[in-house]
Amino acid sequence: MLGRSSRMVARPSHADDRPHAVVIGSGFGGLAAAVRLGAKGYRVTVVEKLDAPGGRAYVYRQDGFTFDAGPTIITAPFLFEELWRQCGRRLADDVTLKPLSPFYRLRFDDGAVFDCSDDAAAMREQITRFSPQDIDGYERFLKASEAIFKIAFEQLGDVPFDSWRDMARIVPAMLRLRSYRTVYDFVASFVHDERLRVVLSFHPLLIGGNPFTTTSIYCLIAFLERRWGVHFVMGGTGKLVEGLVRLIEGQGGSILCSSEVIEILTHCGIATGVRLTSGESLRADIVVSNADSAMTYRKLLPGITRKRWTDRRIERARYSMSLFLWYFGTRRRYEDVAHHTILLGPRYHELLKDIFERKVLAEDFSLYLHRPTATDPSLAPPDCDAFYVLSPVPHLESGIDWSVQAEPYRRRIEQALGEIILPNLGSEIVTSRILTPQDFQDRLLSYRGAAFGLEPILTQSAWFRPHNRSEEVERLFLVGAGTHPGAGLPGVLSSARVLDEILPDAQSLERIA
Ligand SMILES: Cc1cc2nc3c(=O)[nH]c(=O)nc-3n(C[C@H](O)[C@H](O)[C@H](O)COP(=O)(O)OP(=O)(O)OC[C@H]3O[C@@H](n4cnc5c(N)ncnc54)[C@H](O)[C@@H]3O)c2cc1C
Repeated sequence: MLGRSSRMVARPSHADDRPHAVVIGSGFGGLAAAVRLGAKGYRVTVVEKLDAPGGRAYVYRQDGFTFDAGPTIITAPFLFEELWRQCGRRLADDVTLKPLSPFYRLRFDDGAVFDCSDDAAAMREQITRFSPQDIDGYERFLKASEAIFKIAFEQLGDVPFDSWRDMARIVPAMLRLRSYRTVYDFVASFVHDERLRVVLSFHPLLIGGNPFTTTSIYCLIAFLERRWGVHFVMGGTGKLVEGLVRLIEGQGGSILCSSEVIEILTHCGIATGVRLTSGESLRADIVVSNADSAMTYRKLLPGITRKRWTDRRIERARYSMSLFLWYFGTRRRYEDVAHHTILLGPRYHELLKDIFERKVLAEDFSLYLHRPTATDPSLAPPDCDAFYVLSPVPHLESGIDWSVQAEPYRRRIEQALGEIILPNLGSEIVTSRILTPQDFQDRLLSYRGAAFGLEPILTQSAWFRPHNRSEEVERLFLVGAGTHPGAGLPGVLSSARVLDEILPDAQSLERIA
């Protein structure tokens, strides 16, 4: 049975006869998948609900300010370079990546500051200042982080994990690496000072994981950052999105914005195209979904009886936290404020319990403050600063009514920032916009408004995560944060890399009439 389509059109009209791949969603995972499919000889159409590509990396422009909505920390530039190489080009010709030092500044509630960087001497000096007896443990932690990286990232990141055998093969390595331990426990086995434990364990929060429950595999981030640095894209992360779109168009592909897919069409269990809210349908030889994995299965396959990703399983799964984001511009510059600052509140473990387990909006918060104009003043009018501040909050299972809570919450954050780091903030703001968990659900179509898809815990990793080759429908593939290996730019770019392993070149694909 062919899906319920009203009109079957092939849009945009192309004379070329290459097999057609439709990619649903233009997040980094979708764009990277499109480039890889283009390089394999497919004609690619990316279908995006929003009016511009990028997904979480959407760009807001208002009152002369440019705000990257989401990712700003670029940690694995080689994954982007690979995409440019696939098109016979060089990343550096289109995008300028600027290494940052420090990577980020952590400010503790007592005012103590720790600057994370790849400067080994500066790191040792700060560790000594916090806790001299932890130097040795810190060095051992770095070696352990490298060992995890070499296996988990280099050997497993782009393994498809669509068979139990893939999973069984890695169990010995995971036991050796003590992956059954949480990030926090792993770090605590090396250093004793509570603040240093925070410095070395907070990274999973960058990809939606709770350091107290996430597998210690995520300690690989420490090595990844030290080895390749932390970069900022001059002009903002949006420049990377623009660059990828140009690569796709250069391959003869196209991006259809303001077009929402409401159904993946199937015939005898094989994906054959997509239907849009407009009623139009696009035929496809393969379909790649970069939409949220839970939503792909729950909403986009109404005619399919799902064997693995049933509604019950999706409902019982655990989802990452959500975020409250406030983007604002100031009429002055705050020269002392670093590009990336993490402002830690009085509580660490208990605050994370409020967010991930109790799912309540706490009175206190820990914030991440982004000041891109520290590196690229062109993102704001002269003598002004662009900022965003991000507060991890529970996803929508909390029942918090953000239409009521958003403005009071924003005001509390404004007050805290004014007291701690941005004096007189209230009278310096010239432009402002917020994004709440409700927007993650309604705008980005993320299940429960989770900001990073499925929570990255061991029992939801690798084979246990939605596979990149759908378990439910043939010729349907999944990329992005809710699939293997997971959230974050390195994760979603790696999910697209898996497609190289599991998809045939276009000329070898058997055409289904
Ligand atoms: C505020 C924030 C800051 C972050 N900072 C960093 C960082 O500094 N570094 C880092 O590495 N990672 C960071 N991350 C994580 C990273 O941004 C994400 O994991 C990654 O961008 C997600 O990419 P994705 O491929 O899953 O697609 P998404 O960005 O989730 O995009 C999916 C796209 O699909 C579209 N879509 C969904 N359903 C449909 C449909 N039915 N039809 C058509 N289109 C549809 C959506 O509109 C969206 O555009 C951050 C995330 C957030 C939210």
